[in-house]
Amino acid sequence: LSNLKHMGSESVKVVVRCRPLNDREKALSCKMVLSMDLQRCQCFIEKPGAVDEPPKQFTFDGTYYIDQETEQMYNEIAYPLVEVRIQRDNFAYGQTGSGKSFTMQGVSEPATQKGVIPRAFEHIFENIQCAENTKFLVRASYLEIYNEEIRDLLGSDTKQRLELKEHPERGVYVRDLSMHTVHSVGECERIIEKGWRNRAVGYTLMNKDSSRSHSIFTIHLENSSGQDHLWAGKLNLVDLAGSERQSKTGATGERLREATKINLSLSALGNVISALVDGRSRYIPYRDSKLTSHPLLFPQGHNPPPPKKRRKRLKRQTWTNPTQFITSTLSM
Ligand code: ADP
Repeated sequence: LSNLKHMGSESVKVVVRCRPLNDREKALSCKMVLSMDLQRCQCFIEKPGAVDEPPKQFTFDGTYYIDQETEQMYNEIAYPLVEVRIQRDNFAYGQTGSGKSFTMQGVSEPATQKGVIPRAFEHIFENIQCAENTKFLVRASYLEIYNEEIRDLLGSDTKQRLELKEHPERGVYVRDLSMHTVHSVGECERIIEKGWRNRAVGYTLMNKDSSRSHSIFTIHLENSSGQDHLWAGKLNLVDLAGSERQSKTGATGERLREATKINLSLSALGNVISALVDGRSRYIPYRDSKLTSHPLLFPQGHNPPPPKKRRKRLKRQTWTNPTQFITSTLSM
């Protein structure tokens, strides 16, 4: 899970969660190669068989081992995001089977493992109920990016391709994306289930139900009392397609083409995160994929102009039309 902030000195927070071995891995006598120092937020990966080699070491903003539950993770990572009242994003990234859905959607039993998404819904509606004399409009939208094409998971025609458009003042937006007013946690859950059913799923050798799309569920909160200093904002819950390497999945033909595009979005996201973490880069490559040019995730106001060299190239490639630009980048 990572949270991208666009303000303040810490631009990105990345946390890692380790799941226990599953039954298949236990049956194969697999050994846990990952260990953690929770105090120092460090993660160690041993190379199997290489006894003499020191384990590879990585440091994160937060580390969660197998015995730590979603409740703790939510309280430490997601709770402050919902609470601080400005735009926040939550990404779940990892290989298929690594526990993205477990963390984001969660399970009902035990209650401590309830997912980040239902927790965020409850948290938002609790806040709204506590705000006396203030009215809020809560709306939800849900889209997927599949093969670099955007579709509305809650629209009347879920097959229709939506376009990223650029408005001189509003910046980049998704044209015709439907917005749905929600009044309760239950309504939020029903809407997310509807969208979930509409998601395109494919099959790979690695996992039969491997999801091949990225999806972005957004809760838009508007203060309808006209007092603009009061609680308002957006929360993006992003479920990324599996990050497995194509060579491992044995995908061919259409599946391979899909995987290539999935990897394109994921590597573009990786580049954006690296540039944000680095803090020194003037140019953040937001426009390198549909995912990273998504206006809800990365408001264009924070996007510095491309450097001179790049701007020249982009001009030739119809920079004014992001769809064409992205398509031409894909075919390069
Ligand atoms: P993904 O969404 O990344 O493909 P899943 O969330 O479906 O992966 O997780 C794969 C399996 O591992 C599921 O059966 C899930 O219940 C289990 N699992 C994942 N994370 C944990 C965890 N922290 N504790 C216990 N089981 C987990």
